[in-house]
Amino acid sequence: MREERIERTKTVCTYCGVGCSFEVWTKDREILKIQPQPDAPVNGISTCVKGKFGWSFVNSKERLTKPLIRKGEKFYEATWEEALSLIAEKFLKIKEEDGANALGFIASSKCSNEENYLFQKLARSVFKTNNIDNCSRYCQTPASMGLIRTVGIGGDSGTMKDIASSELIIVVGANPAESHPVLATRIKRANKLADQKLIVADLRKNDLADRADLHIHPKPGTDLVWLSAVTRYIVDQGWEDREFLHNRVNHVDEYIKSLDKFTLEYAEEVTGISKDSLITIATMIHESKGTCILWAMGVTQHLGGTDTSTAIANLLLITGNFAKPGAGAYPLRGHNNVQGASDFGTMPSWLPGYQPIENDEIRSRFEKAWGTDLHKKPGLNNHQIVEAIQAGKVKGMYLFGEEMGLVDSNINYVHEAFEKLEFFVVQDIFFSKTAQFADVVLPAAPSLEKDGTFTNTERRIQRFYKVFEPLGDSKPDWQIFQELANKLGASWNYKDPSEIMDEAAMLTPSFAGVNYKRLENWESLVWPVAADGTDTPLLFTDKFGFPDGKARLITVDWTPPFTAGEEYDLHLNNGRILEHFHEGNMTYQSEGISYKVPELWLEVSPELAEEKNIQTGSLVRLTSPYGHVKVKVWVTDQVKGKELYLPMHTTEGIGAVNKLTSSYHDKITHTPNYKEMQVKMEVL
Ligand code: SF4
Repeated sequence: MREERIERTKTVCTYCGVGCSFEVWTKDREILKIQPQPDAPVNGISTCVKGKFGWSFVNSKERLTKPLIRKGEKFYEATWEEALSLIAEKFLKIKEEDGANALGFIASSKCSNEENYLFQKLARSVFKTNNIDNCSRYCQTPASMGLIRTVGIGGDSGTMKDIASSELIIVVGANPAESHPVLATRIKRANKLADQKLIVADLRKNDLADRADLHIHPKPGTDLVWLSAVTRYIVDQGWEDREFLHNRVNHVDEYIKSLDKFTLEYAEEVTGISKDSLITIATMIHESKGTCILWAMGVTQHLGGTDTSTAIANLLLITGNFAKPGAGAYPLRGHNNVQGASDFGTMPSWLPGYQPIENDEIRSRFEKAWGTDLHKKPGLNNHQIVEAIQAGKVKGMYLFGEEMGLVDSNINYVHEAFEKLEFFVVQDIFFSKTAQFADVVLPAAPSLEKDGTFTNTERRIQRFYKVFEPLGDSKPDWQIFQELANKLGASWNYKDPSEIMDEAAMLTPSFAGVNYKRLENWESLVWPVAADGTDTPLLFTDKFGFPDGKARLITVDWTPPFTAGEEYDLHLNNGRILEHFHEGNMTYQSEGISYKVPELWLEVSPELAEEKNIQTGSLVRLTSPYGHVKVKVWVTDQVKGKELYLPMHTTEGIGAVNKLTSSYHDKITHTPNYKEMQVKMEVL
């Protein structure tokens, strides 16, 4: 008789960027429970509903277990040998006929650091293209860019301990109570017990906004204006940190001059926020010993997303709120490994550790280690790849662990691009919407079926361990990349992900001291990590990330949001709800969660409901210039006036919010302006 044993294995949450870790209790392939531990560096004994109950997707009957190859309208099951040989043959053909830049590679912010490292190595060194990007392009690249421009490093300034110990938290365009729940709990506790003050700037009266000392509701897309007006008022009062600015910051006078137009009167007119509220915010910052500003997609997903992120960094620099505990800039990363995917090089212009591919010295270090020449010119990002497919310039694409067919903006246009591809490879754990357009679909293994590391929003690298063997013939993504590379003549021989991490650490100064031994069990490292293993929970204490060690105030101006025309008279906001995650591919396959929240709803204000004569449960059609969706209404005072809110998760029969979004984007990073959506409503 087979012995039944209960196993306890440490893992890191596969959902949001908070990076909670816990033990998974299993018997055979059954998940018995998720148990957080006091030793977990981020969450201790806390989790949220997704971390606790969102795991049964791993054993879903919908999992892919065999490679699939398209034949006409259908797919047939194939062997790995057949599938990988076909990919090698087709990609080589495209490369020979149209050049390496006719290929595009889309990486995954749900997969491990090691897998992202290996995927960019595959694209750059085997296929010889820098056309590689990850899903941070859809969300947080503007935040990173705003910080890279001003303080030189595109990550959180400190850790969640700094957030919890800060005297003042300002949350802009984010909904941590649903998107980063364990972090929100820390803020709620500090607000209640430690007298931390909380300001929330958001269109919705979300849970944190409801508890805040001050909730402001700027008109959509106007955050840069109120942030700059508060900064100007602080300077006008003489409240700027002159010593900090003198010693540690460049371009001070030039930047202060650029604030001339941001008077309180101008800000009140543009944003709708009263002068009194703006003065209150400035005064609260002045009176606090440390201020942390947290932001997310309500800031970044706009035509001016990078500039508003820059304005946040400028405000913090002017007030000396960097390089000290309990202060700083905290872009909240969405996916579990959106930070790590970018850190480990799946971006068109940066090798791992944000090392520019154009730098000859850096590139030759990688060339030497990888034994091959690399292209110097940065490649195309996600948005540019779609445009290049539409223009017939990119003909082959390889995408893993990303539901681009639902999460990119203007998906009808994206689907049209997928159909134009000569050859399309999708690697996933499910037969996703995107996979329906593929020529080959490869079955991958989720985090519980492999080893690796994830990096959370505070730059903390943590290990997760294999709990189960991969289901059926599925394989860890890194193994698939290695097998394909070797089929194309490489001789990679990584026996496990620790060897991939060793290589990345050898080539990347900010990971110099990262290795699996230092990450055993509940240990973690916050990058940059020196060769001796010393990590850096608080950035910039000695210098900012520029050669002269000084930060830079960057002049920015407001870009008014996109307007679709008078016919589209309602503003549609979108984001997460607590129970579901992103497109929902994993949470809808987790029984407890899909049972509790089987469908989505459109939040409609009581005023608008009365005007349209609709109630909770009414069915409406929303139409934008790009598409339409049908959805049921929930009347709630969480939204106001002509503003609507539709969760981004997709359920059958409702369709994705991205049928409505446009292809317009942040002018610097090409991140879509998902939050500048205008629609009209028809009652059905
Ligand atoms: Fe997972 Fe985020 Fe919830 Fe933590 S807060 S359990 S990381 S989804």
